[in-house]
Amino acid sequence: MAPSPQRSRRIAVFGGAFDPPHAAHVALAQAALAELQLDELRVIPTGQAWHKARPLSPAAHRLAMARLAFADLPQVLVDARETERAGPSYTVDTLRELKREWPDAELFLLLGEDQARALPSWHAWQEIVQTAIICVADRGDGAETQAQFSAPKPYESRFRRLPMPALPVSATEIRSRIAAHQALGPLVFEPVARYIEDNHLYQTA
Ligand code: ATP
Repeated sequence: MAPSPQRSRRIAVFGGAFDPPHAAHVALAQAALAELQLDELRVIPTGQAWHKARPLSPAAHRLAMARLAFADLPQVLVDARETERAGPSYTVDTLRELKREWPDAELFLLLGEDQARALPSWHAWQEIVQTAIICVADRGDGAETQAQFSAPKPYESRFRRLPMPALPVSATEIRSRIAAHQALGPLVFEPVARYIEDNHLYQTA
């Protein structure tokens, strides 16, 4: 009997500062799990964010909060590789590493619409697009006032939309609410909110 063709492993990469991780990050991961038949989804907190002006909270805190935030999603693993790598964190390096580790895997890169718009400014972005299918989630934070995201030519076939409920949440807003002693409500999951409080994070805006 002929061997049944094995489906290649489907791995999604979800990078970000996660400073802190919030409800929209988790909703985006849930949407990807629902849509992409993933074997695993790697949440990869950035080490040195070359594209963010503000210094990030220490990686150990961001990793710990990410583990708490995504704990209920069994296919999600928090991957520390970018925080352990010297120099700026480039997504292309992460994708190259994963491709070496899983040569037959199908890779997906999950991005909010703001990051998808910025993608053509990223280091080796064409290689990124050739290595992973880019899955773009709506942000719903006023982005609709900007032109709708359109995939850069000639790579349209490498992009797909990730339907998810619009959640107008950002880590920036959460940090300023904490600094202003305002309630967070459902923007941040309880274990993450407790971690923030216990470790006195984001006390100043
Ligand atoms: P900051 O406000 O500090 O810039 P952020 O809320 O944008 O942070 P990041 O950790 O930078 O969070 O984002 C990681 C990824 O999650 C990015 O691809 C970003 O576009 C996406 N993302 C963040 N917030 C949302 C949201 N509300 N809806 C959809 N995607 C989001």
